[in-house]
Amino acid sequence: MSQHLMNTYGRLPVTFAKGEGVWLWDDQGTKYLDALSGIAVTGLGHSHPKFVQALNVQASTLMHVSNVYQIAEQEKLADQLAALSGMDKVFFCNSGCEANEALIKLARLYAHQQEIADPEIIVMDSAFHGRTMATLSATGSRKVQAGFEPLVQGFVRVPFDDLEAVKQVAGRKNNVVAVLVEPVQGEGGVQIPEDMNAYLKGLREVCDENGWLLMLDEVQSGIGRTGTWFAFQQSEVMPDAMALAKGLGSGVPIGACLAKGKAAEVFTPGKHGSTFGGNPFACAAGLATLEIITQEKLRENAQDIGAYINQALTDVFKGNEAIISVRNAGLMIGITLDRPCADLVKLALENQLLINVTAGNIIRLLPPMIMNKEEAQILVDKLVSVINEFLEKKD
Ligand SMILES: *Cc1c(COP(=O)(O)O)cnc(C)c1O
Repeated sequence: MSQHLMNTYGRLPVTFAKGEGVWLWDDQGTKYLDALSGIAVTGLGHSHPKFVQALNVQASTLMHVSNVYQIAEQEKLADQLAALSGMDKVFFCNSGCEANEALIKLARLYAHQQEIADPEIIVMDSAFHGRTMATLSATGSRKVQAGFEPLVQGFVRVPFDDLEAVKQVAGRKNNVVAVLVEPVQGEGGVQIPEDMNAYLKGLREVCDENGWLLMLDEVQSGIGRTGTWFAFQQSEVMPDAMALAKGLGSGVPIGACLAKGKAAEVFTPGKHGSTFGGNPFACAAGLATLEIITQEKLRENAQDIGAYINQALTDVFKGNEAIISVRNAGLMIGITLDRPCADLVKLALENQLLINVTAGNIIRLLPPMIMNKEEAQILVDKLVSVINEFLEKKD
């Protein structure tokens, strides 16, 4: 491996050379099943022919101009995202942390417009919002923050899926301006609120009573992965603002900050911007992604295949005390073990299966949204055999 890469990742010893559908091949020609999608990015699978075609057309027409000009592809993608989400306005950036950074700036600007000089945003335990200074400060993980002090001020932390804790903050602080929450926590270990509708509805009510913005980080859960375009659409609640990224460009970097009503009117020229954000190429990738998800009914598929995998794993591990729980929101699937299982990632790789472990003891699966039943069964069979091998080794 090159000695010229900064030491920011503990990388696995494999280099992929090509991909097709749910499959990847390394530079030795070995074939792997991809149950991670580059962490919820390549929802269309690899080398989707229609996606490749759309990128080819756009690359050979216009890649980049500047946001000092009007950009047709950006306008079209904003219109479509607004229609799908019910939000009013969109700001485009290039990643998830930038989308959240935009939410944080939006909330602060909104507060200052109301003469709140020291605004605070309520964030959650085990949340993940990114690696920039503001978003790592909003993140609920000491591992992500350690060494980067002083952190950005202006965040109040409460336990996830705990409405009472949020209400208590409302009782003791008058400078709160927003709640920022992932409807389903991803990095935090595929944590799904016990009753998502009740939780989001409760948050909506507290926000309305106190004049706060309800801001959702759907960077991982958005763009069809949980079975609806956005996870919040499985509730009766509309947020004031939302962050998107990961699946939106199917591998082409793009992020988006969406806002509704009064939140949509906060930014004015000069308050925020991005050189690359919303360029024709990235927006063409977003447009092609939305079109293919619709045409191929991939939201429905995410729902079906997610339920199928959950059921299959639940059946296999019934009565197995090492498996604490199996849960899913569409194709965000979490399996909690009774012991640390980071070693499973390498063991799975040796068995030509790509998975992830978060929060120490939680296996996270984020399969491509194009996965069919046969492929899902191969995933289940491979995973069960790898987990069993792991459990035998450690016992
Ligand atoms: C991945 C992720 C981010 C950060 O996205 P980047 O593109 O890596 O900056 C933020 N929030 C959530 C929920 C994520 O899953």
